Amino acid sequence: MRVVLMGPPGVGKGTQAARLCARLGVVHVSTGDILRDAVEGGSPLGRKVREFVEGGQLVPDDLMGDLIEDRLQRPDASRGFILDGFPRTVEQVAILDRALGNLDVTVDHVFILSAPEDEIVRRLTGRRVCPGCKAVYHLESKPPTSAGVCDACGSALIQRSDDEEDVIRERLAVYAELTAPVAGTYGERGVLVEIDGHGDPDQVAARLRDAIGTEGDSA
Ligand code: AMP
Repeated sequence: MRVVLMGPPGVGKGTQAARLCARLGVVHVSTGDILRDAVEGGSPLGRKVREFVEGGQLVPDDLMGDLIEDRLQRPDASRGFILDGFPRTVEQVAILDRALGNLDVTVDHVFILSAPEDEIVRRLTGRRVCPGCKAVYHLESKPPTSAGVCDACGSALIQRSDDEEDVIRERLAVYAELTAPVAGTYGERGVLVEIDGHGDPDQVAARLRDAIGTEGDSA
């Protein structure tokens, strides 16, 4: 099963992708997580992309192309994957088409999650993440049992630097300008399915499950 999960920052892509992966037995490919790990690890890629990631700007397409090709060729992606955060520009759609063509596979579903902007801003400003196991919490709707500590692995939770309000506004503007047209491209191909991302994660997961249907149950 190969799925592209689109939608604005904060709509719940990461949360839903993690759940879908657990259910379908495929890998979660989050380009944001890969880039943040590179920045934290101080790798050559991390040094090149730090300013973009921290400022809420998109990393240039040529760097993203190398990254995604490399990631999708890894053996753990051969059973399938959920792409979270890629493609984010019309050029990246072409990059993904080429990468999938080289692997001789196609995407089964393209979903776009939607939610009102005020809910998105509320979710992002309250979001706290675990730098260790990548679990995601929310100060109001999903607080950890012990304040500031990951329930799953015990690491200290952090706020992503790009979840501060001015950077959130920038990311939403970048989404509207560069990523919304990606939905147009998939829409024209007739493969895009919009999923209501409003409400709690269980409700959204149920909508995705309905959209995938019984295909996922045999995986
Ligand atoms: P995310 O965790 O998906 O919100 O991504 C965090 C940041 O990583 C974005 O604001 C961008 O700076 C960068 N990023 C993630 N995916 C991409 C992509 N497909 N193209 C360019 N930049 C990306």
